[in-house]
Amino acid sequence: MNLLIRGGRVIDPSRDVDDYLDILIEEGLISRIDPHIEQEGVPVIEAAGKVVVPGLIDMHCHLRDFNESYKETIATGTKAAALGGFTTVVCEPNTDPPLDTPQAVEQWINRAEQDACVNLYTKVCLTKGRKGKQLVNLRALVHRPWVVAATDDGNPVVSDNVMERAFVKARESELLLTPHCEESPTTIQDFQQQNPLIPLAEEIAHYKREPYYVARDLQLAERTNWRVHISHVSMAQSLGLIKQARARWVPVTCEATPHHLTLTEKDAEKCGPDAKTNPPLRQRDDVKALQQGLKDGTIDCIASDHAPHAPHEKARGWEAAPMGAIGLETSLGVILTSLVHPGIITLTQAIELMSINPARILGLSGGSLSIGKPADITIIDLEKKWVVDPSLFASQGRNTPFKGWRLRGKAYATIVGGKVVMKAEELLV
Ligand SMILES: [Zn+2]
Repeated sequence: MNLLIRGGRVIDPSRDVDDYLDILIEEGLISRIDPHIEQEGVPVIEAAGKVVVPGLIDMHCHLRDFNESYKETIATGTKAAALGGFTTVVCEPNTDPPLDTPQAVEQWINRAEQDACVNLYTKVCLTKGRKGKQLVNLRALVHRPWVVAATDDGNPVVSDNVMERAFVKARESELLLTPHCEESPTTIQDFQQQNPLIPLAEEIAHYKREPYYVARDLQLAERTNWRVHISHVSMAQSLGLIKQARARWVPVTCEATPHHLTLTEKDAEKCGPDAKTNPPLRQRDDVKALQQGLKDGTIDCIASDHAPHAPHEKARGWEAAPMGAIGLETSLGVILTSLVHPGIITLTQAIELMSINPARILGLSGGSLSIGKPADITIIDLEKKWVVDPSLFASQGRNTPFKGWRLRGKAYATIVGGKVVMKAEELLV
């Protein structure tokens, strides 16, 4: 766990550092950062021409496993993370079985301890079976340090009443809420069953209720004075609501995905089921608003919502295909190519959005290159040109809307607690 990273351009916005520096790692911790470090007998990574940043953190991923190991496992998912430059990943609880009991959480922890090659954390469910009816015993599920937030990923909690109680319980357990303000097939079905005489409104059928749930959850955050982090914001209107709430000091943060930041519904038509996501890809104006939200700080994080499905599931055609796209191995390249190189956001902002802010929001130790901190470090080759070829992915998923894209910029090395888990596109685990 001793290592010298030599000659790289170190960018650490958390300490206002942007300079050519060497970093010495001893016993997994950052022990020295200086212009020139000579140390005998320590393995060296030459980082000249590359950028050295606090390890990237993806706070919204689906690593499946258990009864869905045919889609992805913690082993393959964290390998994909390492290849994509992520030192830390946070899993969603909509696994099969879902993380809604202490036993399920324990089973997840055991698997993570055994199989993960990067730092791994998880969220837990808010309601039993993610059905939105009966709250879980949140206190019994908060297994620190593993459990960092709660959500019914994939489903909004439809009942205002249940959601208000969820806020109160989350505050009692000091657990962040990361609601999914999206319409889902389950909630649409619920609505139809409960209201058989009301024809389904077009907005619901087209998954446009996001701003409704965002407004509701902001109101609950304000009323209960508890923190809320809105998952994958996709519409301009939602962002407007978040801005207004911030102005009233509502404790809210939010994230957007690389696909919602770069693609529109037109791309979904061209790409087919691999671009079928929830929330769906939106209009050009929404994409522009999200990009503006990155610039002006309304959006705090970029998260992939890495959602692998088996090729045969995505081959069922648009209507029947499951929702979701993978992203761990493309996020950094897409953000650098589409947002950083064209000057829409700066490299410093990208590092804030992909490392510092998620660490701060989740209370994790990463997001900074400070002496004495665990050496979670990503080395980036900003100029590396490559073409997205899903057949080469470590993820079992192939469902990416970015297939065939020519990207500029890629992770060169991923270092977790001083251990090099990926270097020059090779996994070392
Ligand atoms: Zn998700």
